[in-house]
This record gives sequence, C-alpha cells and structure tokens, in this order.
Amino acid sequence: MNTDAMPNATPLTRFLIEEQRRLNAGPGSAVTGGLTALIHDVRLACKRIAALIGKGALANALGEAGTINAQGEPQQKLDVLANEIFLRTNEWGGQLAGMLTEEQQDPYPIPQQYPRGPYLLLFDPLDGSSNIDVNVSVGSIFSVLRCPEGVSEPTAEDFLQSGSAQVCAGYAIYGPATMLVLSTGHGVHGFTLDREIGEFSLTHPNLRIPETTSEFAINASNSRHWEPAIRRYVHECLQGQSGPRGRDFNMRWIASLVAETHRILMRGGVFLYPRDRRDPQQAGRLRLLYEANPIGFLIEQAGGRASTGFGPLLEVKPESLHQRVSFIFGARTEVERIERYHRDHNEFELDVPLFGTRGLFTTHTV
Ligand code: MN
Ligand code: MN
Repeated sequence: MNTDAMPNATPLTRFLIEEQRRLNAGPGSAVTGGLTALIHDVRLACKRIAALIGKGALANALGEAGTINAQGEPQQKLDVLANEIFLRTNEWGGQLAGMLTEEQQDPYPIPQQYPRGPYLLLFDPLDGSSNIDVNVSVGSIFSVLRCPEGVSEPTAEDFLQSGSAQVCAGYAIYGPATMLVLSTGHGVHGFTLDREIGEFSLTHPNLRIPETTSEFAINASNSRHWEPAIRRYVHECLQGQSGPRGRDFNMRWIASLVAETHRILMRGGVFLYPRDRRDPQQAGRLRLLYEANPIGFLIEQAGGRASTGFGPLLEVKPESLHQRVSFIFGARTEVERIERYHRDHNEFELDVPLFGTRGLFTTHTV
C-alpha cells in the first residue's frame, strides 16, 4: 500500500464523529450529529473562501466593493463574496434557525424553503480584510449558539447570549497553509487543509497556551489614548531586563485578529485591544458576538485567559448585535496582571512617563 496516500492524520469529519462517540453524546450533549453536520458546512465555506483568496489578484476580487457594512466601514469585494459564501453554504442544511454576520445589520433569516434547526451561526466571514491587498494572512471566525427552545424565527434578542453559552467556536486562517482551528468545549484542535485531497486533517491536537510569555501584541499607535493600566503594562514590558519585569519582551502587531490568535495558540503571547479614551461610549474595537466571543472561547479552552481587562470576557452579557468590547487575551499570568493593573490604575496615572523625556515613546528626536 502506498503510505503517502494514506497518512496517519485524522480527517476533520472522522475526528468530529469519533469525538461524538467518545463523549457518548445523548440528548442534551453539545456534540450531536447535527452539530457535526453544521461544522461540515462551515468547513466547506472556509474551503471555498480559501480557494478564492488563494487566487489573489487572478480572481479579480481584490479592492474595495464601494459599499459599507453594518458598522459603516468600507467593504472589500472579498468581504462581500466571503459573506455570500458563508450564507449560501450554511442556509440549506437544516441545522440553523438563523445567522448573524458582521456584514449585515439584522440577523439573516433561514429562507422559507429550507428546514430550521436548533443552532444559531454567528460569523465574521473575512477577518483582517483591510490587509488582503498586501497578501497578509486573513481568516474567518465563527461561533455556534443554541437557539432558545421553541424559537424558529429568532429575533436579535435570541442572539444576545454570553460567550460561555457557545457550543462550538473556531476560525479558519488563510495563510501559507489554510488551517481550521476549533473547539466544541473539549480542548482546541487544529486541522490543516490538504489541498490535493481537499480535506482538513488533524495536525495540532490539544493546543495549549503557555501560562507565561515574553511576547505582547498591541497597536502602539493608539498609545496616547490608552488608560493608565495599559500604559503601565506596556511601559514595563518595554523596560525589559532593567525594568520591574526583569526580562526582555518582543512586540508583535499583524492587525489581523485571526493571525494574532493563531500565533498565540501556536507559541504563546498576549494580545491587547483595550478600550481607550477616544470614545468613552465605545468599549473597544473588536466585536463581541462574532470576534471576541469565539476567539475567547478558544483561548480559554487552550488554558489561556480571555478578558475585557476588567473581568472574564465570556461572562459579558451582550446588549446589541454589533457591540464592541475591550479584549485582552493569551497567557494567563499576563492577562491577570493587566486585570490587576486595571483594578489599581489610578495610583499610576502620573507615574508612567510614556511620552516624557524619560519615556520610551519620546516625542523628541535624539
Ligand atoms: Mn474582523
Ligand atoms: Mn470581517
């Protein structure tokens, strides 16, 4: 037998069905045949998007679409196409009662001709799309909730569930290799797309995030707006070996949530998109229901911590569909440190000379 044609890696479908058996899923268990069928369709949507993105400029799909999304942001052509792919690939299967996408203000109702199911699918069809023209890794993020009992025409209210209620969450990353990383609440597992056979195979079982790290990711161009706790944290990291942390840190910023998450799941680190002082009404930048919650679910399942900076992210009670949130996640001890700094931040308001002549982001040239 040709062993190359029969690798040991477990295909995604087999993994899910075996997980179902292992958990002896009965009624009431999260991992059911219906959920497996739903993930199957999500996986197909991701493969379709991977194929489209992999063609780059040849697909004639780069550039702006000339339209805006639910948040008033300009859409790329690929945002619109990826959204269509997600809706069309998942609407027919009979597992869903409704969908919520970053690209549309209101929930998407399942068309009348298709049966309804017990789940809700929430997604960011293309994350990091503002970077697509420069060939940086982008991704898709998804979250699966249970539709409340007896509801077949879900309203916005039915989608407003906290992250701890998710039955499955994951993302696809379209990088040098396309991967699907997901959790059904029993650890986080990574699957790599074998383009020749068109299937995802288990390559990264049981991902775990190291509790400590010397790598942090933040958009430092916002530093003048940061709250004191964040200024203190970053300042101490930048001081390196001679500062209170006693070791040197590396800084990373890809500006693609999926790519940042993937790096942290692979080798550790901490990510910060904190709320800041630009708009006190706005809690942060990332969207709670289809960005922060699914990523937070994965991070916690991998032993890391997902936080608003003030408390557990997955316990935030959503108030609106496209609500934004302050999001800090990754290595548990670093996230807990940032939460601690937030608790006593006022003491440090004047102590962190981030922009003074002694600070590391000096405003004068030397
Ligand atoms: Mn996004
Ligand atoms: Mn997006």
